[in-house]
Amino acid sequence: MENFICVQCGTQFAESANPPSSCPICEDERQFVRYGGQAWTTLERLAADHHNRLEDEAPKLLGIGTEPEFAIGQRALLLQSPGGNLLWDCISLLDDETIAEVNERGGIRAIAVSHPHFYSSMIEWSERFDAQIFLHAADRKWVMRKSPRIQFWEGTTLPLWDSVTLINCGGHFEGGTVLHWPAASRGRGSKGALLTGDIITVVQDRRYVSFMRSYPNLIPLGPPAIRRIVERIEPFSFDQIYGGWWQANVLCDAKAAVTRSADRYLRAIASAENYG
Ligand SMILES: [Zn+2]
Ligand SMILES: [Zn+2]
Repeated sequence: MENFICVQCGTQFAESANPPSSCPICEDERQFVRYGGQAWTTLERLAADHHNRLEDEAPKLLGIGTEPEFAIGQRALLLQSPGGNLLWDCISLLDDETIAEVNERGGIRAIAVSHPHFYSSMIEWSERFDAQIFLHAADRKWVMRKSPRIQFWEGTTLPLWDSVTLINCGGHFEGGTVLHWPAASRGRGSKGALLTGDIITVVQDRRYVSFMRSYPNLIPLGPPAIRRIVERIEPFSFDQIYGGWWQANVLCDAKAAVTRSADRYLRAIASAENYG
């Protein structure tokens, strides 16, 4: 029996003797099945020719991503906090070197994941670090490997320790979650940070962000979803955003970047005159 991992999206599945017949996450309209067809690996095979790169994205915020790039190429973030470390989002590969490096920084108290594209091998990580997992209940059906370590939360916010808060923004996924970290300490007079995965996605022009139902298939969101994202983060103060990939960060004035990006998006989908 093996916990097979989907090569396209990096999701690890419940134990089975043979690879699953399909990956519901890749077959969903927000993802895609690769040109070569569905393919599977295992943690052991992945570890044979991949390793993890660990690099600070900000003080007390360690990026962890796999090299060579695997699946959708995201990096997780280990947020180091006095009350316990939190792993924000997750990746498929977990090996002994990574476990040792993370333990050196105090281990992991809990894992919180923005949405199903980053569920990856979260159960593997939670078991190795004896950590709880927080997922929004609206995305429950996308969990491919169940575990009693998963705590499904409901509603619009979930306060954790050290004033860290999970915020349900919806949009890309109904349960789409971002994390507010008021103690983020990059720069003088830091006002805090949002960790967003691709619920609020940092684009190439890092003065802006964007919001999509599907990134690979270019399916936009409608005005109510955009307005809801802006409303949900409005009560929180922050000036940095750390997105789901290396260096996909807005390092100053990030709250204003969200507002101007939402305004531009709403203009673009409302008016063929300006953007047609
Ligand atoms: Zn998949
Ligand atoms: Zn996604």
